[in-house]
Amino acid sequence: MGITWSKTQKDRLRALRADGARLADSFEGRPQRDQAFQDLEGALAKARRKELEDLRAGHGRPGLCRLQTTLEGTLVGAGFVQVATPTIMSRGLLAKMGVTKNHDLFEQVFWLDRDRCLRPMLAPHLYYVIKDLLRLWEKPLGIFEVGSCFRKDSQGARHSNEFTMLNLCEFGLPEEDRGGRLREMAEVVTRAAGVHEYELEESASTVYGGTLDVVSVDGLELGSGAMGPHPLDHAWRITDTWVGIGFGLERLLMTVNRETSIGKMGRSLAYLDGIPLSI
Ligand code: ATP
Ligand code: MG
Repeated sequence: MGITWSKTQKDRLRALRADGARLADSFEGRPQRDQAFQDLEGALAKARRKELEDLRAGHGRPGLCRLQTTLEGTLVGAGFVQVATPTIMSRGLLAKMGVTKNHDLFEQVFWLDRDRCLRPMLAPHLYYVIKDLLRLWEKPLGIFEVGSCFRKDSQGARHSNEFTMLNLCEFGLPEEDRGGRLREMAEVVTRAAGVHEYELEESASTVYGGTLDVVSVDGLELGSGAMGPHPLDHAWRITDTWVGIGFGLERLLMTVNRETSIGKMGRSLAYLDGIPLSI
């Protein structure tokens, strides 16, 4: 029975992306352990420096940005129109989504002042834009946005305060096609992201009532879909049928890269494309 890494050593090795087997190493005593730590830390730092060099000489972009570009190209190619709405959202538009006091999500909103917040979701702005496009364009019509969203979620391994959402939706399709179309949309996004295995689960949502969740084989929620007509549509004077689905890009990246912690996948000061800079 030996000793294992100290907590500080383990944290450092984890940040340097040591594999699980090495993290479980045990040693006869402290001197052996500390020597092994020095050797392993040096080897891992060297490997990560090589990855940074390769990034610079190669694609030169973090996975988050590459995934965003891929998804944007795929969706425009599939006939969706991209929109770019403000990151700052008004209290009134959020309220139209039913997110007011007593709503679970309300407590998670970062308020800038009395009437404005950092958007916790993209849907209110998509509703806003689509109500005009429905007047101007032939149906069915699909739009999407990709951008940062902000929530005071507990900072666990699966949640960040700032994350990147993709929300795509299609309005004015035949009612009987909605279920199939939602599944197609889930397939288009996951395939483009490189997630080849996932499950679809019905679940309850505090905003939409029933939702269809896209879940990874590790049980990580990748996206949530919903369909309408829906009671929330009334506030926007929308009567058309619709389907919509929102994905977290960092969650898609975690799944593709078999990464258990979201911190390396998102916007970061400490990592570039998942590679630690403290090396
Ligand atoms: P969860 O139950 O995992 O907290 P949610 O159901 O509250 O997620 P949704 O409102 O359905 O999240 O948002 C759509 C997608 O955005 C989620 O499926 C997830 O991929 C991503 N997402 C939501 N909150 C976060 C967060 N704090 N950090 C990273 N990704 C998130
Ligand atoms: Mg959800």
